[in-house]
Amino acid sequence: MVDQKGWSKELVNMSNSFKELKVKDTNEEIFDDKDKLITETGVSFRDRVSNIDKKGHRLMIHPKKPSGKFHKWRAIVAVLLLAIMIITPFIKINGNPFLLLDVLQRKFIIFGVVFWPQDFHIFAISFLALVIFIVLFTAVFGRIWCGWACPQTIFMEMVFRKIEYLIDGDYQQQKRLAEQEWNGEKIFKRTLKHTIFIIMSFIVSNIFLAYIVGIDRLGMLVSDGPFAHASTFTAVLFFSGAFYFVFSWFREQACTFVCPYGRLQSVLIDKNTIVVAYDYKRGEPRGKFKKNADNLGDCIDCGNCVKVCPTGIDIRNGTQLECVNCTACMDACDEVMDKVNRPKSLIKYASHSQIEEKMNFKITARIILYSAILLLLLGISTALLINRGDVEATILRAKGTMYQITPDGMISNVYTATIINKTFKNMPIELKALEIPEATIELIGKDKIEIKSETFTSATFILKVPKTKITGTRNTVKIGILSNGVLLQEVSAGFSGPIPGMN
Ligand code: SF4
Ligand code: SF4
Repeated sequence: MVDQKGWSKELVNMSNSFKELKVKDTNEEIFDDKDKLITETGVSFRDRVSNIDKKGHRLMIHPKKPSGKFHKWRAIVAVLLLAIMIITPFIKINGNPFLLLDVLQRKFIIFGVVFWPQDFHIFAISFLALVIFIVLFTAVFGRIWCGWACPQTIFMEMVFRKIEYLIDGDYQQQKRLAEQEWNGEKIFKRTLKHTIFIIMSFIVSNIFLAYIVGIDRLGMLVSDGPFAHASTFTAVLFFSGAFYFVFSWFREQACTFVCPYGRLQSVLIDKNTIVVAYDYKRGEPRGKFKKNADNLGDCIDCGNCVKVCPTGIDIRNGTQLECVNCTACMDACDEVMDKVNRPKSLIKYASHSQIEEKMNFKITARIILYSAILLLLLGISTALLINRGDVEATILRAKGTMYQITPDGMISNVYTATIINKTFKNMPIELKALEIPEATIELIGKDKIEIKSETFTSATFILKVPKTKITGTRNTVKIGILSNGVLLQEVSAGFSGPIPGMN
């Protein structure tokens, strides 16, 4: 309904209430009873994010303790993932870590296979495949990762928040405690909670350190004591402090302000993406529960979905940037629907199209395109992994050297070779000129090349090639890297010779 000015009835009412409301703010801004900014044209829905007040201060959110079917499954998944995270650094394959991400020494062991900076191209392609997988997964399932598997959500909601509920109680007690004066109870609870948070942050920091330095070295660092390795201990303290800050105060802001994945949601999801969504077709018009009221939808406006939300939003306003798909509102609403004897899933996993047009899941052109790119990248990284050798050698002519003509009619060049052993076993290495059987290789300064596991070595050698095999000043020779008679790699190197016709 619109009046002669073209204003809807709702806007006229708001405008009238606007005139009656008293000014509450020094900036002359006016807010309604739910603290939403009121303008001459109506209530501003989103003039700020849910955890910031009208003056820009941080609003701590005290969500109601979640419970229900989805929460139970999320707790099971969280326990499993935490167990995997804690156990993984202890897993070894042939005495070597299953997973090691030693960024300091630029050494990475993934599924028991050592990767070196020389394998960067495999990393780059695999990383690109991972990004496309995330884009594809998000286009189809939205932020399921955030709610179910992200370490931030798991530690926050399943570890730190649980400790908070145990010490401070549910949301009402938490709010009361936050607002009350400092007394014996508050001092005791705050001290206990923050002491446990600090210990937990230190443990989390050590778990991450085990992935960087390996569990054996971590054990050694712990047994030697903090002062024997002051720089590592300082780094652990720094990260413990960062984790404590995030889990005790920063909290959901990590998902809404910092996480790049969260920030990308608005471009990754569309109306066909499955998200945690309120079925407004079924729920509206909402209104207080009345038996046999046929003019109302199923939402009884109890607000439980808002009370449980750890990011402080009302999912009935649609998909919003803060929603981490934690499913707490789905459980809360299902419980309410059970009580009022209405079908569950008023808030559910569904796409906008499924709710609006009652359409089934649709494979869109975007999904097909992402899948094709992903398959291509996976194919390339698999091929690169299969063809990845046990050694990686670089052979270059020694700087500042010229060719030499030897009395026995050979031409010699001097080379330096750098050879990386990517395996976990020591390797005897032999160099051989391929394609020229008469060519010889002589090591300088050592009798043999032996490379210890996961290390590299350098060697200088002279390659002698019969003059008859050299056709110009710039030639290419192929040198084989062998171990125990098995050819591991073929390297092409330049070979300089005299101008044809000259002796
Ligand atoms: S709206 Fe629901 S799913 Fe989204 S964060 Fe809040 S409680 Fe979790
Ligand atoms: S919990 Fe369900 S019934 Fe209650 S306000 Fe939210 S959507 Fe409506």
